[in-house]
Amino acid sequence: MYETILQSVGHTPLVKLRRVTEGLAPTIAAKVEAMNPGGSTKDRVAIAMIADAEKRGWLRPGGTIIEATAGNTGVGLAMVAAVKGYRCIFVLPDKMSNEKIALLKAYGAEVVITLTNVAPDSPESYNGVADRLAREIPGAWRPNQFTNLSNPEIHYRTTGPEIWEQTEGRITALVGGVGTGGTLSGVSKYLKERNPDIKIIGADPEGSVLSGGAPHGWKVEGIGEDFVPKTFNSQLVDDWVRVSDAESFHMAREVARREGILVGGSCGTAIAAGLRYARRLTADDFMVIICPDTGRNYMSKCFDDNWLAANKLQWETHTPHTVGDLIK
Ligand code: PMP
Repeated sequence: MYETILQSVGHTPLVKLRRVTEGLAPTIAAKVEAMNPGGSTKDRVAIAMIADAEKRGWLRPGGTIIEATAGNTGVGLAMVAAVKGYRCIFVLPDKMSNEKIALLKAYGAEVVITLTNVAPDSPESYNGVADRLAREIPGAWRPNQFTNLSNPEIHYRTTGPEIWEQTEGRITALVGGVGTGGTLSGVSKYLKERNPDIKIIGADPEGSVLSGGAPHGWKVEGIGEDFVPKTFNSQLVDDWVRVSDAESFHMAREVARREGILVGGSCGTAIAAGLRYARRLTADDFMVIICPDTGRNYMSKCFDDNWLAANKLQWETHTPHTVGDLIK
């Protein structure tokens, strides 16, 4: 029996991909981070950042965690805060989906909504408001996952060793996307220490500056940047593969239907990149693809045919089945 839900974070399964990999020589497996209790790899990071802040005295009993995120890091922080009795306030721009806001509130977090149409450095921007709350609320602390080095470090200490053990040291290629870069940097550092020949492949949305090329917007959430975060060590990446939104989303849907693993859009990016790269590998290779979160976060996005069509990212449309269709 676990003392708290936090003890169930990590030790996520490594699952072989058998059908979407047809015709490819290497063994290819997904590290399914959706199996963390909060549904993403960020549970690990939330625990680590909070433990570090407690150790340094930045966060004390009864303290308040303030962050400007609606994503997986928010869920992780809200979960840890619930267990440890901290107050948690998230500052989000008004474009965020109601589902995401409801999810944070479900864990007992408070949510402050700010205007989207203000300059990023304005005091009314979500960052500006978060800064002000952190200054004015006594005992407040901002984790800042983009500069907090506990982020890559927890992947160096947990995700990396798990992958090494799960592949019995046979891994030859690692594929993952980069948001803060914590996952790829931490895991790669560990793996390259064990075997410097392991190839690290960055999966990047078209439009992100990380893999070079002209910056423009993209729809896949959680990965790609218009700056290089402090938590990302780009020198560890051997090759980049760029993937379009359409390919990312269609791959996420293929993986749900053909492997039975419900993953998010950024996993689609990583798997699409991995499958493309795998064409140059042999049957002696063992590729691990990091899948950061669950597809349940995106039912109204890439798993919704209408949303895809509205964004000109069409997926085959499905005519509704009648009983007659089903039994004929
Ligand atoms: N995918 C999703 C859905 C995410 O939320 C994140 C975190 N921003 C990532 C990928 C990238 O992980 P990292 O921040 O460790 O680079």
